[in-house]
Amino acid sequence: MTTEISIVLPLYNEEENIRPLISSLFKVMERVDKEYEIIAVNDGSNDNSGKILLELVSTYKDVRIITFDKNYGLTASIDAGFKAANGTVVVTIDADLQNEPDDIPLLLEKIKEFDMVCGWRFKRHDPLLKRLSSKVANYVRNKLSVEDINDSACTLKAFRRACLDKIKLYNGFHRFLPTLFKMEGFSVTEVKVRHHPRRRGISKFNIRNRIFVSFIDLLVIVWMKKRLLEYNAIQNQEDLKKS
Ligand code: UDP
Ligand code: MG
Repeated sequence: MTTEISIVLPLYNEEENIRPLISSLFKVMERVDKEYEIIAVNDGSNDNSGKILLELVSTYKDVRIITFDKNYGLTASIDAGFKAANGTVVVTIDADLQNEPDDIPLLLEKIKEFDMVCGWRFKRHDPLLKRLSSKVANYVRNKLSVEDINDSACTLKAFRRACLDKIKLYNGFHRFLPTLFKMEGFSVTEVKVRHHPRRRGISKFNIRNRIFVSFIDLLVIVWMKKRLLEYNAIQNQEDLKKS
């Protein structure tokens, strides 16, 4: 049977979250009642994540794993998941249970009308400094790149797989996926999603390790958007041959 949905889990040192997340996903997908696969991308974890994933893979046929030899970062995990996905729709979700698996059906409903659905963590449950820096980052990103996406870095997203062939990701570009989609002429929408505090394990991102590099990435995106080739031919050789 053909896989309809691929759920991609980018994962780095999430040993305590994997099992509860997978069992939540099983429950949600049972309700959705579509053929699916779960692709866990182990981004060079050095805790027990790898061992736990191997156990899960040998028990459940719907779970697949990709294991990196070292830590390459979130964009690389997402990219590897995209490339491995067999589903016509790809859903990405954080592996730490901060995103709510039960919101996936909402995204699947919306993706029927759009090429990409971007989760918006309307009520963030992160430390104050992170919430504030994220607000500022989204404001600056929207201003400079002339966008209106509330929460571009939310991992909970759904994509039409066919569109992903046109998207080339560079390190850090997971934050700009909505813009990259729009640049290709694809349709993008947002849905409000739930967000939970991180209960187990630690966050891998903080102001220090993302503010400077994300700003440089933003300038690259601004440049790419400005220099996008947009031309309109009023006649071409093929038309001449036909007439
Ligand atoms: N992650 C990853 N590679 C990394 C850093 C993070 O695959 O180098 C995963 C991580 O395991 C989680 C998701 O990306 O599933 C988001 O990371 P995190 O929860 O640390 O970010 P935060 O929610 O604090 O912004
Ligand atoms: Mg998190």
